Amino acid sequence: MIHNFNPGPSALPGEVLQSIQAEIVNFQHIGYSLLEASHRSSVYQDVHNHTLKLLRNILAVPSDMEILLLPGGASLQFAMIPLNFTHDRGAAFIISGAWSKKAHAEAQKATSGIKALWDGSSSNFTSLPSHISEKQVYNYIHITSNETIHGVQWKEYPHTQSPLVVDMSSDIGTSPIQWSHIDCAYAGAQKNLGVAGVTVLIIRKDFLDMAKQDLPSYLSYRVHAEHNSLYNTPPVYAIWVMEKVLSWALENGGINTIQSKNREKSSLVYTTIDRYHDIYRLHPSVNVRSTISVVFTLPDQNLENHFLNLAQKEQFIGLRGHRSIGGIRISLYSHVLLSSVKALCQFMEHFAKTLA
Ligand code: PMP
Repeated sequence: MIHNFNPGPSALPGEVLQSIQAEIVNFQHIGYSLLEASHRSSVYQDVHNHTLKLLRNILAVPSDMEILLLPGGASLQFAMIPLNFTHDRGAAFIISGAWSKKAHAEAQKATSGIKALWDGSSSNFTSLPSHISEKQVYNYIHITSNETIHGVQWKEYPHTQSPLVVDMSSDIGTSPIQWSHIDCAYAGAQKNLGVAGVTVLIIRKDFLDMAKQDLPSYLSYRVHAEHNSLYNTPPVYAIWVMEKVLSWALENGGINTIQSKNREKSSLVYTTIDRYHDIYRLHPSVNVRSTISVVFTLPDQNLENHFLNLAQKEQFIGLRGHRSIGGIRISLYSHVLLSSVKALCQFMEHFAKTLA
């Protein structure tokens, strides 16, 4: 059996894959595939609206926030957010890892008035700011809730005077969200919610009201919101898979059950890492280490390659760290099986003991 630790796209519940297989040719006995249906038909619109309802339910999205289903990946939001929301007061970024660095760089290409409020690159992204000092109120402050490459995660969102925008691409749907501090959150679906092709954007209505008016339609959040995310042909397949993943999650206990399973998985992994900390050297500081993206190195690269080769033979896949920082990364997304995590911890323990 393959133990799938791919960093995204990543593991999906087996039942969801089977259900897609069963329905892909003949959707709900209508005689043709959902993928062949018009996105204006009630056949598709039921799926679309049910997906939005499930998102609101599972993520406990407050009624004063809109949910949009957008094409283009989280990377498109790196440009769309500044285009929509940077006015006279500018936007400020907390740069806590490779993804927020990219979001900041893309925003600079999109508009002027983009600042770095805090930058952890000098320590190769091992920490987070203990508080955010706002010299003024900005149009928004941008953070990345979980740095997928550097393994740094905010445990509590900062209370900011400026509207807070959060890239939640790698930890949305892994635990309940503290919406009270957040004005806008966005995430590609392919790690915890489904497959690549759709990005979820959740936005406070009064923040949305501040979006610019004169943008090309496709880049305008107002336009997507006014059309219930059906301005143009939506990514039908990705939305359908998300409906299935969310329905599965609801039937299996909802977000609290997901959170407690995720806690169990990360506590198993960190117990192993802490026990053999001479061998498994965590990249981030302990207080900001991620429960979802566990990033560490071994004493040298030969040992890392040996670890990865042995792991591959034992059917553990997707463990090589991102090419930009190397090392090992254990992605513990919501649909990674607890049994796979237990097997991996046993493997790591055995590996460490053979070196002792
Ligand atoms: N932000 C974060 C935190 C990510 O992990 C990723 C993808 N790994 C992205 C943004 C980019 O997402 P996409 O590939 O959907 O554009």
